[in-house]
Amino acid sequence: NLTPVTVVGLGDMGRALAAAFLDAGHPTTVWNRTPHRADDLVRRGATRAATAADAVRASRVVVVCLLDYPTVREVLAPAGGELAGRTVVNLTNGTPAQAAEAGDWVRGLGADYLDGGIMAIPPMIGQPGALILYSGSKGAYEAERELLERLGGSRFLGTDPGAAALHDLALLAGMYGLFGGFLHAVAMVDGPARGFTDELLVPWLTAMTGVLPELADQIDAGKYTAQSANLAMQAVSLANITTATVDRGVDPALLAPLRALADRRVSEGSGGDDISTLVEGLRVGAR
Ligand code: NDP
Repeated sequence: NLTPVTVVGLGDMGRALAAAFLDAGHPTTVWNRTPHRADDLVRRGATRAATAADAVRASRVVVVCLLDYPTVREVLAPAGGELAGRTVVNLTNGTPAQAAEAGDWVRGLGADYLDGGIMAIPPMIGQPGALILYSGSKGAYEAERELLERLGGSRFLGTDPGAAALHDLALLAGMYGLFGGFLHAVAMVDGPARGFTDELLVPWLTAMTGVLPELADQIDAGKYTAQSANLAMQAVSLANITTATVDRGVDPALLAPLRALADRRVSEGSGGDDISTLVEGLRVGAR
């Protein structure tokens, strides 16, 4: 007598979510626009619903994982009359504003709304390394936590429905900064990217993540005075990186905005600060 669950959307991620519920023994109903994507899941015991409305009717908890929020609205609108009394857990990636709007719409139809951000790729779902961020209805999170943790670890970020999307996108921004740095670095060097990455880049980046808590403390305190690496010195490094990059016929475009921001802060008199001071240049009009 495990909680029945419905999964709407069987792309790469939706199929992984449904499979994790099935593996844990939950009665699982699935629906997808292209029905054959449910075939494997049905063989493993899932029930295929003929329509999204049928899928919604099958379970108190409806997990939605579609391409984007407009698709969520398009798919759930015909099932709107069936949502009252249920919990919608929307794991589709989007912005905080889209999450807030979806929350208003779902609550207006009499359902609880929990928004989520999946910090994992499909093969990680159901494993301890997967993390899903949630926000919105605290009651729904607490009531369904055991079910939701079949997918991986969970963290509730508050009742603002947009909080999970905000933190999801902030984490992805950090990830893309890392990927941008990786791409620039391997474009610069000769020889196989793999050897450089394994032997030099990963150990270096791993060591550098150790600096982040101290930079975060400086940002929290609003006091950026350099401890061991001042910005004026780092601006010279950024100029040297740029020159060497261009000399090798590599485009410095990914690094250029960071260099421009550093140069601007130095010219404004912040050369004695740590690189954490750049956050002041980023938060234009934020507060
Ligand atoms: P896919 O492209 O594999 O799947 C997209 C899903 O959306 C399919 O179920 C597709 O149905 C459906 N869809 C698209 N357009 C429509 C439409 N007009 N009407 C009805 N259904 C539609 O994407 P993923 O499964 O990888 O991603 C789903 C969500 O999960 C996204 O928001 C993504 O950002 C998020 N996510 C994905 C991760 C990943 O690594 N894959 C990681 C973290 C989050 P159909 O099969 O009929 O085309």
